[in-house]
Amino acid sequence: SDTDAGPTVEPDALRTPIVAVLGHVDHGKTTLLDTVRGSAVSEGEAGAITQHIGATAVPLGTVSDMAGDLVDPTDFDLPGLLFIDTPGHHSFTTLRSRGGALADIAVVVVDVNDGFQPQTIEALEILERTGTPFVVAANKADTTPGWNPRDGSPIQASYESQSEAARSRLDENLYEIIGDLSDEGFSADLYWRVQNFAKNVGVVPMSAITSEGVPDLLAVLMGLSQRYMKEQMAVDTTGPGAGTVLEVKDERGFGATVDTVLYDGSVRAGDEIVVGGTDGPIVTEVRALLQPRPNAEIRVEKRFDKVEEVRAAAGIKVAAPDLDDAMAGAPIRVVRDRDCESVIEEVESELAEIQVSTEEE
Ligand code: GDP
Repeated sequence: SDTDAGPTVEPDALRTPIVAVLGHVDHGKTTLLDTVRGSAVSEGEAGAITQHIGATAVPLGTVSDMAGDLVDPTDFDLPGLLFIDTPGHHSFTTLRSRGGALADIAVVVVDVNDGFQPQTIEALEILERTGTPFVVAANKADTTPGWNPRDGSPIQASYESQSEAARSRLDENLYEIIGDLSDEGFSADLYWRVQNFAKNVGVVPMSAITSEGVPDLLAVLMGLSQRYMKEQMAVDTTGPGAGTVLEVKDERGFGATVDTVLYDGSVRAGDEIVVGGTDGPIVTEVRALLQPRPNAEIRVEKRFDKVEEVRAAAGIKVAAPDLDDAMAGAPIRVVRDRDCESVIEEVESELAEIQVSTEEE
């Protein structure tokens, strides 16, 4: 965007696409994220997924293990998917990156029985406004009366093994969702019938409880990213980092810290940073970069590991002095070899944009 005072990018790598999961309360966002994490842990070798602050990274190999025949890893050169845990629905509206959406791609979870609800429509409006591509997860397919679950199966095989009655019940609900999407101005169809994902929204029937259709969802997300976002993913992962604050939290021994999604470049311990705050930009220095410890026990004193450097895309907790007034949704920028004033200006103009868009709500 024209407010971007960042350096010219010399791409050295393809970063992980950032995936947000949205939808009406109780339609299954949390369960879906837990299922992706859980099956990634059981499918992949130890350490195959990494739990970040506010995000979960699922590498391509694990996506492919989980998706079975639906994902051939040799078709892809993006490194995997980074699922962000959007804290609360409303804050998603302020989660931006340089004027655009923080998420590169989104999943809108809709309960197949409950259909469209107010927060479903709200999510679609946000995605349309920010131009974020998305797929619809028609969740809870397993609650269709007479459903015979096939845990972890791709959805078509599972669908074909159902009774005629169960299939037509599910069909009715799916067509209702496709009709509701059309009422909102989106041309949509069951994902395997979609030829052009740039024009049509794919609907993936699935269950976060039985994992049926989860292989399909991962395959669609991976395919969409690879096909339409590859250029956007080319970043300089060693350049001065750019990120968005997810949450501001007090941590014992560190004071106020910011949970950040880093979408460009890198951040290192000792870097000078500019962070958006309620009273304008805060200029400070990274004291520590904190990652959750694997299997951290809640009672254990040290819940975090300190790391020296983090590269995009990643979720990281940044500890630095003077972060008390930092703001969720605000930009965070590494200064490094740039002029600090220009970075402050960049953060100021982004803060102004956030304020405008929040007033529009
Ligand atoms: P969120 O508010 O969107 O995060 O919804 P949750 O993930 O907390 O799910 C709400 C409820 O629906 C919980 O009781 C889940 O166990 C249940 N649920 C979520 N996904 C499924 C599914 O695919 N099938 C069934 N049967 N229940 C589900």
